[in-house]
Amino acid sequence: MTKLAILEYPDPRLRTKAAPIEAVDATVRRLADDLLETMYGSNGVGLAATQVDVHRRLLVLDVSEERNRPIVLINPEIVATEEPGPCEEGCLSLPGIYASVTRAQKIRVRAQDRTGATFEMDAVGLTAVCIQHEMDHLDGRLFVDYLSELKRQVIRRRLAKERRQRTVGSEARSAAPVT
Ligand code: ZN
Repeated sequence: MTKLAILEYPDPRLRTKAAPIEAVDATVRRLADDLLETMYGSNGVGLAATQVDVHRRLLVLDVSEERNRPIVLINPEIVATEEPGPCEEGCLSLPGIYASVTRAQKIRVRAQDRTGATFEMDAVGLTAVCIQHEMDHLDGRLFVDYLSELKRQVIRRRLAKERRQRTVGSEARSAAPVT
């Protein structure tokens, strides 16, 4: 497994719409493994292929405390949503930035697993929010798109400043989940 580089906002490649995966083969399974490795290595709870500059419809997540319940969703589709509500979100492509976004707190999602089999799962709370956040990535959308342009400008300035100041190997991490 390989830890991959994560694209950071406002990199235009994050705006690419990912293409469906036609066949779940060894390349796709390796991508899933690399995404999991990258997610765990970055202390994230979710990661979409888009974030590592691979524009195919695959995302991974693990919202468990123990970090031992990986979920791989290939070609995910949301088939039902319920209970819209606010949730504080972060993103590995926007290090250190958090904002409240309103999303369904209960969803039903259909996807393929790493064998290519189609399955459906019900997700609530952080799992539901994380899946919606990662699916947005596959469509080239970021959580800051739900904020005002003024707030996005402030965030872009802050990220640019932090990138200038960032020293190699130093990582500032918040306790809040980042996806
Ligand atoms: Zn994200």
